[in-house]
Amino acid sequence: MTPALDAKANEILLRYEQPKAAMLPLLWLVQENQGYVSAEAEAWVGRMLGVARSHVREAVSFYNMFHTKPVGRRELRVCTSLPCLLRGAGELMDRIRETLKIGPGETTPGGEVLLTEVECLCACEIAPMAQLDERYVGPLEGPSVDSIIRDSLTQPGRPESTPEPEPYLSTDGPVLSTHFKDPGGTWLDDYLTDDGYVAARKVLTSMTPQDVIDEVTSANLRGLGGAGFPAGRKWSFVPKETDKPKYLVVNADEGEPGTFKDRYILERDPHALLEGMLIAAFAIGSHKAYVYIRGEYFRSAKRLQRAIDEATGKGWLGQDIQGTGFDLDVVIHRGAGAYICGEETALLTSLEGGKGFPRLKPPFPAISGLFQCPTIVNNVETLACVPFILRNGAEHFARIGTERQGGTRLFCVCGHVVRPGVYEEPVSITLRELIEKAGGVRDGNRLKAVIPGGISAKILAADEIDVAMDFDSLKAAGTMAGSGGVIVMDETTSMVQALDSAARFFADESCGQCSPCREGTGWVHRILRRIIDGQGSLRDLDELLAIAGDMEGNTICVFADAAAWPVQSYITKFRDEFEEYIRSGRSTEQKETAECPA
Ligand code: SF4
Repeated sequence: MTPALDAKANEILLRYEQPKAAMLPLLWLVQENQGYVSAEAEAWVGRMLGVARSHVREAVSFYNMFHTKPVGRRELRVCTSLPCLLRGAGELMDRIRETLKIGPGETTPGGEVLLTEVECLCACEIAPMAQLDERYVGPLEGPSVDSIIRDSLTQPGRPESTPEPEPYLSTDGPVLSTHFKDPGGTWLDDYLTDDGYVAARKVLTSMTPQDVIDEVTSANLRGLGGAGFPAGRKWSFVPKETDKPKYLVVNADEGEPGTFKDRYILERDPHALLEGMLIAAFAIGSHKAYVYIRGEYFRSAKRLQRAIDEATGKGWLGQDIQGTGFDLDVVIHRGAGAYICGEETALLTSLEGGKGFPRLKPPFPAISGLFQCPTIVNNVETLACVPFILRNGAEHFARIGTERQGGTRLFCVCGHVVRPGVYEEPVSITLRELIEKAGGVRDGNRLKAVIPGGISAKILAADEIDVAMDFDSLKAAGTMAGSGGVIVMDETTSMVQALDSAARFFADESCGQCSPCREGTGWVHRILRRIIDGQGSLRDLDELLAIAGDMEGNTICVFADAAAWPVQSYITKFRDEFEEYIRSGRSTEQKETAECPA
């Protein structure tokens, strides 16, 4: 380790209240300099943080973006999660393997590239897709597959042949997407010209924290990360009289398969998020905010940092903001590849430098969160709505939505639709209307099923899509609005293979603390593999339902419930198809291909 790394590490340590919290940044520092985290580097990180090397080892082994041995000069991460699978990720992976002549987890003999198979990279609008080092590429079809393979074999930094994708994006939504037009992002001058930071100025100069909380509560803003809890009420739980510092933590660990909206806010309108954070921090009395951003979002983190630097330079962050006496420091904290860190308590343990283990609630983070201090964790989209509310009034925002949920949402529509993309719509839109906005089902095929709120949500059959997309309507329909990720499946989809894909995801991502979850997700996936391999029995279906029943409601966090819901809903709604698959040992689609004389 070099004196330059020591100096950089000391600079990073200054950002954190407790040294151990710098665990992930220091591991990233090492990996960016050495290509992997060696045993010597683990010992160095331990010394810098004042913790045993075993603690560092624990963290390295928990996060799947860290390498413990030398790998290729480049890394090609290929997503094979359900949304990519629906659009041909299986064939894509086969072609890449055949051409590179290596399998996932292997590096080409010349050391050019490491091939990695990953769960969702949250770019389902460009599925099937991959990530070459820091860059997202997709849809990878036809000649673009050869281009990405060629690029992966070149030296890092050389000009690359695969173009930047430009997917469908609504750019005229009333609240969130007005600044999405420019793929390069909207920066401070443009943002200020367009009434940017007007709401923050109003809050800092003429409102009390309670006024702000009341306004956001009246707007019926719900938590848009998935839980749907009223944002204003959540803020009100932070104790007013306490000697402890209070923290605002932004959950930008977008990881739910089928979801890709927060990335657009972070990259194209980062000042909307920063202004929302400033207002939220004022409301709860916080002077320090962290943005926990998923490790794979390299570009999002860089763009957000640029916006933080701009805002700090113009006196919108930092000390004595605009001469009002209010201070707010914002630190970006990058994750390292663990879906569970999207759960708010896991995010906090990860931010404190440990493995991303969820904690039992209560106490809730508003009382005892980061470093055992009062903490509000809010999703990116939730906070990005806040400036609109304070600028235009709660009533205006509330009127756009339904009786109990104000405003719009950025719906992510992917899978078998004509125009996958981000659609900003009032939450009263129905699922059918949303699919129609995305051009309907591709190739004139019939709709078979839809997951309305990310892979954890219970699936809806084709005749259940006349339901509004707000939290309460979808709950009443037996599913959930979740993260707003809509995954559309047409008649060619094998529900057995779709469930197998979801089961693999949950088995891979369980943190392993609770046995019903750790063992249950493993068993569900193993049984489904047996069925897929033609070795299943009809009894397996009841076995799967029994395991799912045992997982639900018996664990520290709701991950196990989320893993159980797809099992229950797919098998209940499509049991005939599962039974037919088991009897014949294959899917209807496979049979048709086999029977086709061509
Ligand atoms: Fe970890 Fe699963 Fe338990 Fe959540 S339910 S704490 S993910 S083992």
